[in-house]
Amino acid sequence: MPRPCQQCGRAIGRTVETCPNCGAFNRAERTLWVWLAGGAIVLTLFLALGDIGAVLQVAGDLLRQIHAALAPAP
Ligand SMILES: [Zn+2]
Repeated sequence: MPRPCQQCGRAIGRTVETCPNCGAFNRAERTLWVWLAGGAIVLTLFLALGDIGAVLQVAGDLLRQIHAALAPAP
């Protein structure tokens, strides 16, 4: 699924950061499921180890990363 360039509107790939048409920088998109899958794996690992404190710390870091990933580019 392409997305429009923020500068010229031409369709570019989601993981492409430099527009091939005008050269403008477009931050690559990171899909939410990647973070959710990563979080689920980490959570499972820590739950298996019984370290709830580490789970909460990792979950907090993950939420901040998700927030940063979803925040609009400046
Ligand atoms: Zn462009």
